[in-house]
Amino acid sequence: MRIGVIAIQGAVSEHVDALEHALLERGEVAEIVTIKHSGLVPTCDGLILPGGESTTLGSLLVREGIADEIKEAAAHGMPIMGTCAGLILLAKEGDSQVEKTHQDLLSLMDVKVNRNAFGRQHESFEANLDVSVLDSQYNAVFIRAPAIVEYGNDVKVLSKVGEFVVAAEQGNLLALAFHPELTDDLRLHQYFLDRVFGR
Ligand code: GLN
Repeated sequence: MRIGVIAIQGAVSEHVDALEHALLERGEVAEIVTIKHSGLVPTCDGLILPGGESTTLGSLLVREGIADEIKEAAAHGMPIMGTCAGLILLAKEGDSQVEKTHQDLLSLMDVKVNRNAFGRQHESFEANLDVSVLDSQYNAVFIRAPAIVEYGNDVKVLSKVGEFVVAAEQGNLLALAFHPELTDDLRLHQYFLDRVFGR
């Protein structure tokens, strides 16, 4: 198995560490590849789009020719987990800020995002979330977090903060508004790996 982590910008090494720990925990082996150029995504069995700055990430993915590879891989069912800025990139539609700046989105999930849903006064915070696929609460770290504000019928909501959807899935795509790589709780990386390993 090969798991790719888009490594153009943002929280890359933390995801690599989390994956390594999660693999050890489940006693499974996979190669983890950090991806900065085209040609690698098609060789992977799963992919993580990390947090960072979604405008920068989006335009570099297009420039490097990686965006098209991700769309192709997603269409063929590759499990993909997008966290924070990664969630924004997975979305089909953004808010007025996204529209105004003609931000490049991958347009894979039938969701509309608010890029900075929680505003400046809550630049970062932690919250204990009920996540429908986990058997107990999950302490999530939010940093200038986005949220899903509208979604289609194919989207399954996994967790909310008030009215904001902060975790959701659509088929092989998993989107988290927070940073699972910044906590020791590996359950959401395990949930993603369950898909990669097909169980
Ligand atoms: N809100 C940020 C953006 O628009 C994402 C923040 C993050 O990934 N920590 O890019």
